[in-house]
This record gives sequence, structure tokens and C-alpha cells, in this order.
Amino acid sequence: MVVETPGSQSSLHRANLERVVRAVRLAGSLTQAEIARTTGLSAATVSNIVRELRDNGTVQVTPTSSGGRRARAVALSGDAGVVVGVDFGHSHLRVAVGNLAHQVLAEQSEPIDVDASASEGFDRAEQLVARLIESSGIGADKVIGVGLGVPGPIDVETGALGSTAILPGWGGINPRQELAERLRMPVQVDNDANLGALGELVWGGGRGVKDLAYIKVASGVGAGLVIDGRIYRGPGGTAGEIGHITLDESGPVCRCGNRGCLETFTAARYVLDLLRGSHGPDLTLARMVQLGREGDPGCRRVIADVGRHIGMGVASLANLLNPSRVVLGGDLAEAGELVLAPLRESVARYAIPSAARRLSVVSGGLGARAEVLGALALALSEVGDSTLLDANVPAAVAVS
Ligand SMILES: [Zn+2]
Repeated sequence: MVVETPGSQSSLHRANLERVVRAVRLAGSLTQAEIARTTGLSAATVSNIVRELRDNGTVQVTPTSSGGRRARAVALSGDAGVVVGVDFGHSHLRVAVGNLAHQVLAEQSEPIDVDASASEGFDRAEQLVARLIESSGIGADKVIGVGLGVPGPIDVETGALGSTAILPGWGGINPRQELAERLRMPVQVDNDANLGALGELVWGGGRGVKDLAYIKVASGVGAGLVIDGRIYRGPGGTAGEIGHITLDESGPVCRCGNRGCLETFTAARYVLDLLRGSHGPDLTLARMVQLGREGDPGCRRVIADVGRHIGMGVASLANLLNPSRVVLGGDLAEAGELVLAPLRESVARYAIPSAARRLSVVSGGLGARAEVLGALALALSEVGDSTLLDANVPAAVAVS
């Protein structure tokens, strides 16, 4: 007969607590039946653990319905802690504060010339974070993590920029270290395309799917890939460089040195030149989309061509990875069907039918907020379940 030592029993119990907290933390909210399915624990065990976590203040339980039946929704307790998201774009800084129940408590964005000076950018970020934490009425000691987005390739392990050509004013700066020292908080970092993917997955157009590609068209074109619920970065962190798929070997010379990359047919820096002769030198991607929606035939033509070319890249992606959803982000997503219809046509033409059939192509649901909400989701995904339990258990002991 095997005699269980008290130690092994309690460590098993602790492991089960952490499994339930992790499942709820990643999903935002789950019914008890969903927790059982996600964790593989029995319904009775889940019920006991949820009661314990509720009593010590780690989770909150609210009545809901699931498939027409009464159920109980379990979410991390809103006041168990908050996370902060900081997103640097080339021309904006956006900060959000959210709680562990996946509610956004405060959010603000400011115009900024990020390329000009890194220290000015970080000064502004530090001030905005402090202001938003104060305005949401939370003590700074409640912040348990920060997610940081930068508009270029970054090594998520070291926090160093992969290329200073993207952000010339940031030479010699490690963005993760810089922000962590200024805020005196743990910081996780990733590029804007990966955070857009994470934002749409948790809060927007990718909710409920496990495999998706987020494609962002801006001055360049990038993709964030989610495979089986997780961001796929590859060993060098460069996965998702869809902008440099070759579409035409004798096409225009790309900034990467090759010719006819997808980017040369789709990115703002190339396609706006097609319209500047007829629409003036100050045309932006957002303005082109607005004019297209108002019926401007030249803008409509360019938007449709961009859609068709992105569709060729998406077809390759569909054949290789078979995602169930592609979410289009950035200013171009605002063009709606003007860009999505030609994009889908291309996918139907160039992808193998079995991959194309299962793929839905949609506009992002978050617009310009996708990256900062992705930064919140990144911070949430890195919060240790053990930290959460330890943060709450002593409080329960104190009141009981
Ligand atoms: Zn290229």
C-alpha cells in the first residue's frame, strides 16, 4: 500500500490551484465546466478549488448561462492586481491599464515622434503610465506587470532591438530594461505585429480561435502568427515576415534588397507613390482609405490591388499553416470590403481549396488599440500563477 505523505498531497493541491488560476487568467472568464475541460480536472475537484479561490479573494464567481443552462462564470478577481500596456508606434504613444478580469480601466494615446529621441519617448511613457494609474484610483503597488510594444524587430529574450535602422533615435538602448528601470516593474516586450495578434486574439476579431494570422499594413507589412493559442516567434524572433515573400522577381526593388516582395505592392511607402501624382504629396494611408470609402476611383483601384496582393501572401500562409482566421489590422482594415473582397478572391484563387475553405478573413475589431491591448495581454500571460496565489492567500488568512 502506498502511503501519501502530507507534503505530496499538498503539493498536488497547490498544482491544481495553479492550473485553475492559469486557465482562468488566460481565458479571462470560464464556466466551471469549461475549467474542467481545459484543465482535465474532475468537476468535483474544480468545484472545491473554485470555492477555495473565491473565499481567499483570488477569483470572483458570477451567475451566467451556458447553452441555455444556468452556470457560474469564474474570473480572476478585479482587485487582485493590474497590468499596464505601453505601445510605441512611429507617430503615437498609447498606454492602457487593465485588471486581471480582462477589463480595461484607463487608456490614452498621445502623438509623438518616436524616431526622434528615445529618452523623450520614455519620459512621456513614464508620465502617462503614472497619470493613468492615478486616474484609475489604484495604488502603484497593485501593478504586477507591464507589456511593452515597439514598432520593429526585437529580441524578446534580451529585450534588445533587432535593427537600429527601424528606430534610428534608439541606438544603444534596450527598451525593456529602460522601461523596467524607470517604472521599477517587470516588463515584457514584443513587436507591434505580434502584440496586434495577441490583442485581437484575446479582445477582438480573433476571439475563440486558436490559430490565426494578424496582418498589419503600415509603412511596411508584417504579420503576427498565433499557433495553438500562442504567439509563434521562431528561434530568431523573425517569424511572420510576410512582407518579403516574392511575388514578382522582376518587380520593384524592395528596401530589403530583393525585387518584387509583397511589401513593394502593398506597403504605404510604395503604394502611396502611385497616387501622389494625382492626389497630392501629403496623402496618407488613412486618407487614401477615407477617399476610397467616399468613392474616389483611383483610391479604390489601389486599395483593391493591395487587397489582391495581400491575398497572394495569405494564400501561401494558408497552405503552410492552415490558420482558421486572418485578421487585417492597421489603417487599411478601415477600408472593409473594399480591401477584404479582393483579398478573399486571391485566397480562393491561389490557396489549396481545403485550406481556403476553412479560412475566414476579417477586419480587426480593435483598430489602433490592437497593439496596446496586446501589450496588456502579454503582461497578463506572463503573470506567474504562483504570484497570484501568494498575493491573495495571506489576505484570506488575515480576515478568517
Ligand atoms: Zn523585401
